[in-house]
Amino acid sequence: MQKNAIITGASRGIGRAIALELAQQNIRVILIARNANELAELQKQIEQEGGQADFYALDISQATQVKQTVDRILEKHAQVNYLINNAGVGSFQDFEAFDETEWDRIMDINVKGTFMLTKALIAHMKAQKQGHVVTIASDVSKRTFPQGSVYCASKYAQDALMSALRKEVRSFGVKVSVVYPGMVATYFGGSQPDEPEKALWLKPQDIAQSVSYILNAPAHVVVDELMIHPLVQDY
Ligand code: NAP
Repeated sequence: MQKNAIITGASRGIGRAIALELAQQNIRVILIARNANELAELQKQIEQEGGQADFYALDISQATQVKQTVDRILEKHAQVNYLINNAGVGSFQDFEAFDETEWDRIMDINVKGTFMLTKALIAHMKAQKQGHVVTIASDVSKRTFPQGSVYCASKYAQDALMSALRKEVRSFGVKVSVVYPGMVATYFGGSQPDEPEKALWLKPQDIAQSVSYILNAPAHVVVDELMIHPLVQDY
């Protein structure tokens, strides 16, 4: 039976590359992001290449939207096999320059969004006695850097959520994996992927291949953590 994968942050960058990679493996990809036009274009591209894709435009920081969307997805598809928590935002400034609004924005998308999506699907996965949650965290889930306090805190929190969840759902046959990328050439933080300094950074496809490796591990294997860096990055 064809497998279904929900991918958040699928409109560009890493999430888009993951969607294209999984669609090529005959997995139906269910694309989530806020920008409906970009999602529709990606759906069209995937279908032209022979794959299958649905999309839902929503803001994952809005709990009601998340719950309603997951309910709709589960009504339409008997089974969701994979959840790829990838959507995320960051901004970088001195500690005292962060205000409550920016704290809430970053935490609500990176932490609450990841939590709400996973929470909405985990009972389904436990009942099916199978499922795989893969979260794209960051190498700053395990280190910090100046001007990155709030972003790092959000990525540490994502990591802790997933680490505890892994221990909770293992006995139900549900796998939880976390990918910790270093620098990836994307649109992250309002930048452009083709900026000259990014020439030797990881490409989104490198992360997509890591996710593919994780999902294609034999049934008895769970890849708990996968850290990946460009060779030029001093981690
Ligand atoms: P990106 O190119 O900016 O893409 C971010 C994606 O997240 C977009 O599809 C965006 O779509 C979506 N998104 C943002 N806020 C959202 C919301 N509220 N609801 C739904 N979707 C939302 O960045 P990226 O580099 O691919 O980042 C993907 C993930 O990788 C993030 O979690 C990031 O922390 C992580 N990461 C990135 C790097 C790096 O160097 N680039 C390194 C380590 C980890 P819309 O704007 O259409 O909603």
